[in-house]
Amino acid sequence: MIRKLLQKLPNPFGHPVRHRTTPAVIPASQHNLRRERISRHAVNVVERLQQAGYQAFVVGGCVRDLLLDFDPKDFDVATSATPEQVRATFRNARLIGRRFKLVHVHFGREIIEVATFRAGHDEDNGDEQSRQSDSGRLLRDNVYGTLEQDAQRRDFTINALYYNVSTGHIHDFANGLHDIRNRQVRLIGNPVQRYQEDPVRMLRAVRFAAKLNFDIEPHSAAPIIELADLLHDIPAARLFDEVLKLLMSGQGEKTFALLLKYDLFAPLFPDTDEAIQANPDYTLKLVHQALRNTDQRIAQDRPVTPAFLYAALLWPALPPRIKALEARGIPSIPAHQQAAQELLAEQCRHTTVPKRFTIPLREIWDLQPRLERRSGRRADQMLEHPRFRAAYDFLLLRESAGEQTDGLGDWWTRYQDASEDKRRQMVRELADKPTAKRQRSRRKRKPRSPQANP
Ligand code: ATP
Ligand code: MG
Repeated sequence: MIRKLLQKLPNPFGHPVRHRTTPAVIPASQHNLRRERISRHAVNVVERLQQAGYQAFVVGGCVRDLLLDFDPKDFDVATSATPEQVRATFRNARLIGRRFKLVHVHFGREIIEVATFRAGHDEDNGDEQSRQSDSGRLLRDNVYGTLEQDAQRRDFTINALYYNVSTGHIHDFANGLHDIRNRQVRLIGNPVQRYQEDPVRMLRAVRFAAKLNFDIEPHSAAPIIELADLLHDIPAARLFDEVLKLLMSGQGEKTFALLLKYDLFAPLFPDTDEAIQANPDYTLKLVHQALRNTDQRIAQDRPVTPAFLYAALLWPALPPRIKALEARGIPSIPAHQQAAQELLAEQCRHTTVPKRFTIPLREIWDLQPRLERRSGRRADQMLEHPRFRAAYDFLLLRESAGEQTDGLGDWWTRYQDASEDKRRQMVRELADKPTAKRQRSRRKRKPRSPQANP
């Protein structure tokens, strides 16, 4: 009888409530998360907040990652203290954010992010603390609430686990441990509504699935393709940050495949997406190879830069723009420059690329035709160029995707290791090479464009 009654009660999440398989509070003896693995600064923040009389927990990605034996990227703290109260508790604390107010507590280079418990947004009160757009997107999310409410407003069940460093208990109000065990990325609540509130959650679903090697639970996966275009409403600066997390965290290749699968790539890189449609073999090869190299470098702790990755992602989108400009009678060299300029400007409308990356990106592109010109002292000057290494790596990348360059990459590989005498000889041989001469004279009239169809 009671069960029947319960079944008739309206379910706020719009789909069947799953029965708990684990208790809401799990004692230290029943999980494998050890306090020693938490940053001592995060422990310090939690303990000081607790001593000041507030509730405080380590929460989110770090709890999830530690349970799965990954090294957490950072440590987040959730507390009942308001941002102002948190700031008053620490000398080294700064209030940040408007859409979502937070406190950053600084310990040298480590920052502990402290968020106040939030409640959900059942109705749009349209006041100072909570605002929603017509599509249901949360424009402001500063309605404070209880611990239980805070768990419900988080994105995924696996991100809603709270660890109390003093007792060793994990608080699990959304059945996150169950999903960790079954390797599922599952939204809390009604997926459509949660994606409408914040479309970036679609990207986060894909990111966690790739990073953790989880599946996206079918109800959470189903609406994504339909809603993918909502990403167009998200500020381009936020999307740039997300793109870096998606493609430059060590699982870029896998993440890219998922972005394509869920139609989430097009709203981020519309021009590249068009190039994929027009010329799939070449474009996909280039992008996959660029991401594979990036993943490898990250695995080897070598530096990676968004300038190089963006240069690669956008390169296949250049030739159609160049052609269109040339068809309007613009000469080749200015057409190249203008196409590059316009493509980057267009990309910045979707994911703002900061200047410190667009400048080296343009250099990598501009050096591509210059790598072909090797006569006299030009090759040596090129070797001295601060961006030579990136430009050379980029050339190899183009070749690996099938671009025909007449052995240019191999030439540069040999040239770098050659003795002075050998270098002179290589440059002389170039001048004697009939094909090279022909290419040079042809290029004088019309510089070669990036090849979309190698
Ligand atoms: P990582 O730090 O590894 O990228 P994370 O899960 O810690 O993953 P953060 O962006 O650091 O992600 O966010 C911390 C926590 O805040 C998340 O675990 C989640 O509980 C909550 N959160 C973050 N972004 C959202 C969002 N868009 N909607 C709802 N909750 C969110
Ligand atoms: Mg985090």
